[in-house]
Amino acid sequence: MKPHDLMGVEFHFLTPGFLWAKIESMRRMLKKYFGYESFLPGQEEVIRWVLEKRDGLVLMPTGGGKSLCYQLPALIRPGVTLVVSPLIALMKDQVDGLKNNGVRAEFINSSLSFLEINKIQQAAENGLIKILYVAPERLVLPPFIDFLKKINLGLIAVDEAHCISEWGHDFRPDYRNLKILRENFPAAPILALTATATERVKQDIIERLKLNKPKIFISSFNRPNLIYKVRPKRQAWENLLVIVEKHKNDSVIIYCFSRKETENIAARLDSEGYQAKAYHAGLDSEMRKKVQEKFIRDEVQIIVATIAFGMGIDKPDVRLLVHYSLPKSMEGYYQETGRAGRDGLQSECVLFYSFGDTKKHQFFIDQITNKVVRQSSERKLREVVEYCELIGCRREYLLNYFGENAISCNGCDNCLTSREEVEATVISQKIMSAIIKTGERFGGKHIAEVLRGSQNKKIKSWKHDKLSVYGIEREKSAPEIMEIIRYLVGKGLVIKDQGRYPTLSIGKRGREALKKRQVIKLPKAKESKTADYQTDKLFEKLRRLRKVIADRTRVPPYIVFNDVSLKQMAKLKPKTGAEFLKITGVGEEKQKRYGQEFLQAINNYKKRPAPSTYEETKRLWKKGLNIEEIVEKRGDTKGTIINHLEKLVQAGEKINLARIKPKEEKFKIIKAAFEKSGGKKLSPVKEILGEDYSYDELKIARLFLIFSTPDR
Ligand code: ADP
Ligand code: ZN
Repeated sequence: MKPHDLMGVEFHFLTPGFLWAKIESMRRMLKKYFGYESFLPGQEEVIRWVLEKRDGLVLMPTGGGKSLCYQLPALIRPGVTLVVSPLIALMKDQVDGLKNNGVRAEFINSSLSFLEINKIQQAAENGLIKILYVAPERLVLPPFIDFLKKINLGLIAVDEAHCISEWGHDFRPDYRNLKILRENFPAAPILALTATATERVKQDIIERLKLNKPKIFISSFNRPNLIYKVRPKRQAWENLLVIVEKHKNDSVIIYCFSRKETENIAARLDSEGYQAKAYHAGLDSEMRKKVQEKFIRDEVQIIVATIAFGMGIDKPDVRLLVHYSLPKSMEGYYQETGRAGRDGLQSECVLFYSFGDTKKHQFFIDQITNKVVRQSSERKLREVVEYCELIGCRREYLLNYFGENAISCNGCDNCLTSREEVEATVISQKIMSAIIKTGERFGGKHIAEVLRGSQNKKIKSWKHDKLSVYGIEREKSAPEIMEIIRYLVGKGLVIKDQGRYPTLSIGKRGREALKKRQVIKLPKAKESKTADYQTDKLFEKLRRLRKVIADRTRVPPYIVFNDVSLKQMAKLKPKTGAEFLKITGVGEEKQKRYGQEFLQAINNYKKRPAPSTYEETKRLWKKGLNIEEIVEKRGDTKGTIINHLEKLVQAGEKINLARIKPKEEKFKIIKAAFEKSGGKKLSPVKEILGEDYSYDELKIARLFLIFSTPDR
């Protein structure tokens, strides 16, 4: 096949009268090469403008879909599209991504040998390359310019265009040379793209690139899929663990203040069983590269980094981004949080705030000798504090900060958590009693375990299983109890001392509340998890397949398919090739490369029989979770989990049921009812006992009737 046949050569002959046909064709190519049904906001306008051979400047937030703005025109325009990018580390991924979509792309930078570069240049001269990525320093070499003159440059894209300006946050001197582009290639339209540019930087870009009457495209900087949260930095570590556990299958970035802190947090997460690695400027470049690579390949789950991390990575599926310390400015915060959820799926940005942290920053600000700079830094820090202490919508504040008007938000803690309070007197009393009964020398986790009747060694060795508070709260999970403890600390009812292993005690106010049986109200959290268990499981399976394929073909997993595509596959469960092609992100090339394997995985998944589900329950049970927690994890009903336990016990598995043993009194009554009914069926027993006993309760009791052995 001749190269241009592939590339939709029909456009070269279009006149404006064919506009409709052109748009139709654009959409066809969008699906064919990128697998998308429609454009993201702003993309189509930019692409049309570029196809008119006009210069443009695109300001789009991270994840807005900037690349497509030049990649699609590259397929439509004749000749080669030159993409200038400062991020050498990213070029390979981008090119791999394009190749996976059946687009002939290459890159030229210092990581390639002379021979390899020569080969690519040859291919370009022979019209075999559509998109060519280069680093800016390449453009000062006269032979390279000569080479570019030999090929037909149809379009020039300058990515990260803010790097051209000293007024931006990431000035690259090499970008100054880019003026030669306009001088040497007057016929090729130039498209500059960036995610951050102040007015001043915008002007710099236009002037220095010598853009000719450019149109400026500005997208909203709202990132609707990001949820912004601020948490008080009390018990920060426990809090962090709770949040991280919620994202235990996801990629996570945690930003810290200092190198030492990154090392420390990474080590602690590691000892909790997470794959976490520190990343900071103090590591040698070899090490940094390795960490980054592993993160991109889903082999390291959590990166604990100073803010230096993130410039060179384009991982689309970072679902949790934590600032363990205060950011320096709102610009910084916006940029750093921008690294979460680039694929548009919901992702969380959590900032831990304590006023004490501002002092660390203040210390550095005080060292600044330039008065103007110092004052400006102080102002920026104040704005961050203002953001943290905000009662209103955080998104509104962020967008206002960048001069945008508010939009509707249901994705920040202040909008998600209703101010509504719920009564929590009983649970609060239980917690406070447990703190007192255990001698006011333990932390929240231990208290939660005592209340839940956990079997762990520590509890036994302290004889806390003999206390009256032992096992009096089995409905709530440990994280839930710990969350309530946090609120009680916040209200001053429980006191938490500072230290490496902070212990809880009850202060004057707490004792008074207990004594007077005061009503205690706590804020009600409204966030609900809406997970479809089956879909989630299939998603996990497809992720594993993706990883296998990625390793086999030596690309990052997201190059094979991103999470958006996998989620859709898990949900829609395509059966045929045609159905598979309807999935977003599936173009013709990916269909060809991966269709069969994924379809097979999806089909097999449906046919898979149940047994593994028992295994999962067994695993969770042995981990020490209680029924409610397993229900929450697996999305099954309580009854189903009890059935699993029953089946497992019947199958001779050693399942320790002690932690759900019914109270002796009730058990006697249920036992009598079973005897009276003369069988093992539940409904006759339920009939006898009536409303006071639930089916689940009866089922649990039955476990002890049928299989009662001394150790149960
Ligand atoms: P940016 O460079 O602006 O940060 P990208 O070009 O990396 O953004 O695109 C962000 C994400 O959006 C990527 O995961 C990409 O696959 C996806 N994307 C881009 N265009 C579309 C589209 N038209 N439809 C669906 N997803 C898209
Ligand atoms: Zn909000």
